[in-house]
Amino acid sequence: MARPPVVWVTGAGSGIGRALAEAFASAGCAVGVTSRSAARITRVAASSARIVRCACDVRNSSSVRRAHVRIVRSLGPVDILVNNAGVTVFKKLLSTNEREFTEIVDTNLGGVYRATREVLPSMVRRRKGTIVTILSYAIKTTYTSSSAYTASKSGAEALLRVLREELRGKGIRVVNVIPGAVNTAMWPKTVRRSQADVMMAADELADEIVRASLKQGTVVAEEIVVRPRVGDLRL
Ligand code: NAP
Repeated sequence: MARPPVVWVTGAGSGIGRALAEAFASAGCAVGVTSRSAARITRVAASSARIVRCACDVRNSSSVRRAHVRIVRSLGPVDILVNNAGVTVFKKLLSTNEREFTEIVDTNLGGVYRATREVLPSMVRRRKGTIVTILSYAIKTTYTSSSAYTASKSGAEALLRVLREELRGKGIRVVNVIPGAVNTAMWPKTVRRSQADVMMAADELADEIVRASLKQGTVVAEEIVVRPRVGDLRL
């Protein structure tokens, strides 16, 4: 019998990542969940026998390597990587200090580079695999007080656009997800309270992503924009 698809979701302790881990597990996948907080991913792993966990900081290549080895040993080679780990600050550029800037870029862009590079050799050997990355609608519009975040996500989009062509014909799909606002802990409580009507639920977004990730066939949705039907945040 064919083994279930093996999925690795980074930053899976909360929000979209957690919803994705649970949705992939419900769809019958074997799921590796990672994030810096061991306590959070332990709770996610407790929700399904199909989920294994490993603490991992995507800013650190040794940590990424260890997490990958653990997932492969427990579940088998990764078929779908979901680059989801991400951070932001809601500050104008002049108020964004260098530590914040570096953390955002190193997580949202550097993390995509490290995790993707980690899983790709096996995918290329097997001529099979999907790299899914959670970008942001910030790359399509202009949200003030988000310059470092927008730069990091736009950088990741550029990296993945080039990678997609480098992998063309090798059996690997590169899928970029571009969500509008999602009601998660990434947003300040005041925004979550006042604008809940224009924020998506993480589990609804997760269902869209799981469907696209598991789709077989000769066509691929390379870029998926998902927004609330009623429109975007009033920033
Ligand atoms: P969230 O609940 O804050 O989730 C972010 C996750 O990333 C957390 O589990 C966090 O866990 C993990 N993380 C942060 N830094 C990490 C690191 N260095 N290494 C490993 N894991 C790390 O927010 P979310 O909204 O679900 O965000 C998930 C992704 O969606 C992000 O990439 C975000 O940019 C993107 N996104 C969000 C929205 C939105 O409106 N919420 C819209 C578009 C795109 P630990 O702290 O335990 O590491």
